[in-house]
Amino acid sequence: MNLNSKYFDRIRIKPDEAQAAPQEAPRCEWAGCDQPGGYRAPKGRHREGQYHSYCLDHVREYNKSYNYFAGMRDDDIIEYQRSASTGHRPTWNMGVNKVGAKPQSWADAFNDPFGFFGGSGAKPGPETAKPQRTLGNFARRSFDALDLDGTESGTEIKARYKELVKRLHPDANGGDRSLEDRLREIIQAYHYLKSAGFC
Ligand SMILES: [Zn+2]
Repeated sequence: MNLNSKYFDRIRIKPDEAQAAPQEAPRCEWAGCDQPGGYRAPKGRHREGQYHSYCLDHVREYNKSYNYFAGMRDDDIIEYQRSASTGHRPTWNMGVNKVGAKPQSWADAFNDPFGFFGGSGAKPGPETAKPQRTLGNFARRSFDALDLDGTESGTEIKARYKELVKRLHPDANGGDRSLEDRLREIIQAYHYLKSAGFC
């Protein structure tokens, strides 16, 4: 066998290795972000050793929202969402209340426009005028994640958030857990908008 033949050369190198692109940092996994990733963020308690890869800005943003759930297992977070969408009072209210604003009732605290929580139901929000906003990158992406255009009132943002959580929840999808990443993205987006004072 002639080891120097052209034919041998061609089969000696696996095509996928020969054509592999130069090693490149993965892109940030944040929706809509095209920055290089490389900053690792833990995926959660039941995914030890698995990490998201974000850019520096987004790993900070992710960690903020990740810490929000510190001490809760992923299942507890999902369980919270399940409770919230089926009308059971959760044990933890996600900090929806503005600091210092003592709600009259639990339903008021959530401003529950669809009556998910068994309260009196639709409660018109005070915000009728569209707020004027200059959106930063995080805010823009967070509105995008919620399929909003950025002009919505706080009431509308909350309503959309609840609607999406309800729609994407595994219980509403025959136990399909493939939507969890999208759900997580929506939770992150909502908490960013809340922390930034949009709702
Ligand atoms: Zn990013």
